[in-house]
Amino acid sequence: MIFEGLSDKLQGAFSKLKSKGKLTEKDVKAAMREVKLALLEADVNFKVVKDFVKKVQERCVGQEVMESLTPAQHVIKIVNEELTALMGDVQSKITISSKPPTIIMMVGLQGAGKTTTSGKLGGYFKKQGKKPLLVACDVYRPAAIKQLEVVGKSLDIEVFNMGDKESPVNIAKAGLSHAIKNNNDLVIIDTAGRLHIDEELMDELKSIKSEVRPHEILLVVDSMTGQDAVNVAESFDNALGIDGVVLTKLDGDTRGGAALSIRAVTQKPIKFIGMGEKLDDLEPFHPDRMASRILG
Ligand code: GDP
Repeated sequence: MIFEGLSDKLQGAFSKLKSKGKLTEKDVKAAMREVKLALLEADVNFKVVKDFVKKVQERCVGQEVMESLTPAQHVIKIVNEELTALMGDVQSKITISSKPPTIIMMVGLQGAGKTTTSGKLGGYFKKQGKKPLLVACDVYRPAAIKQLEVVGKSLDIEVFNMGDKESPVNIAKAGLSHAIKNNNDLVIIDTAGRLHIDEELMDELKSIKSEVRPHEILLVVDSMTGQDAVNVAESFDNALGIDGVVLTKLDGDTRGGAALSIRAVTQKPIKFIGMGEKLDDLEPFHPDRMASRILG
């Protein structure tokens, strides 16, 4: 189960409250200490945890909660609401251009799941009646182009590829022209990643951005890397500007630090989550559902 440790610890803290009936301020404070520890152990950003606990505590010691007949339920409801708010409150969708094609540029570090997610996203929109085109701009990673071809084939989505001798900017521009001629209403550009963020990578991504003017720049990050994923998101946003995040490998993430920190730290929403290696393991991200899942 995802975020198992966090769920268990939060439930533990709340079951103590539930056994008490009426609550004192001291009870609430003790529970909040446990919530704080649980979030820190889940690798949530320290400042995010501090602000979160402060907010929840302020709301919980209010008259309405302390004097209610089921104070513990009130506390859980407040935690649920604040967790939801932390992750962005409402679902954040992809911007679909009124003038097709909608252009989505996928960026991220190597291994984060960019190529797989480009395919998954194509499949997701194809099911909604769109005609996507996948554009293979990752000319540096051996086998990335082939991998995108394989993904496209299994989803029956066309892949635009000019091999690895052309510059990524030229491939992106040619891909866009092809899409317009071919009546594709959605273009998904799979850009190159690197092992680390470097200036060369950012310069290349900036040139693609200025040449094709994407409607969405989606950053793909690996949730299992915890706070590193948050730092990567901050760096990409500062250097390039991103519109949202796809958080991959959530199926293997037992902690949850990235999911709970990214929005608060970067102000950019998580739009999709990757829940497995299969091409239909992609889900739109719903902050309220995730909060309920965490609280069990
Ligand atoms: P890229 O270098 O960023 O293009 O990464 P890839 O798309 O090649 O993905 C790297 C590895 O992560 C592959 O083995 C994928 O199958 C795997 N992967 C991608 N997304 C997910 C996910 O949501 N869950 C799991 N379990 N594996 C994933």
